[in-house]
This record gives sequence, C-alpha cells and structure tokens, in this order.
Amino acid sequence: MTLPELQALIRETYGAKDASRGVEGTFMWFMQEVGELATALRNGSAREKTLEFADVLAWLATLANISGVDLDQAIAAKYGAGCPGCGKSPCACARAEKP
Ligand SMILES: [Zn+2]
Repeated sequence: MTLPELQALIRETYGAKDASRGVEGTFMWFMQEVGELATALRNGSAREKTLEFADVLAWLATLANISGVDLDQAIAAKYGAGCPGCGKSPCACARAEKP
C-alpha cells in the first residue's frame, strides 16, 4: 500500500467522523496510540507491536487528511533527496545532531 492509498483508505473509512472530531480531538487519539506503541515496544509481543504501529500510522494519516497534508508529497519533499540536515544518504550528520 502506498501513502496516497493509505490516506484514501482512511478517508473512505473514517473521513466523516474525522472531520467532525477536528484536529484537537484527533491529536489526542493519535498521542494515546503513540503511548500504546511505547508500551508495546517495551513489553509487547511481535503481534502487539505490529498492531500498534498500524494504529499510529492510521491516526497519523487521519491527522494529515483533516489538516490537508499529502503525506507522499511531504515525505518526498523533505526526505526524498537524502537527509534534510546534510543532504546525504546515508546521513553524515554528527551523532549529536538531530537527524
Ligand atoms: Zn544528515
């Protein structure tokens, strides 16, 4: 599945609910799922980790949909030509730098 296909799937499945919930309410759900992913990464089974990654990605797609962001264009623009910090792939930034 591509990123545009993911956003379309989430829009078809949840678009009406997502629009009525709004960005603030949706962000709270997204952060709850990020917390659940942290728990799964620390203590979960392989299946639990897989499910939580799916939930976080789905809620991120929801946030992008209701914010008018195309994830495919966004990731290509920022990371498509290598590290945004140093412009290289693999990244050659110093270890202390963010990327
Ligand atoms: Zn870099």
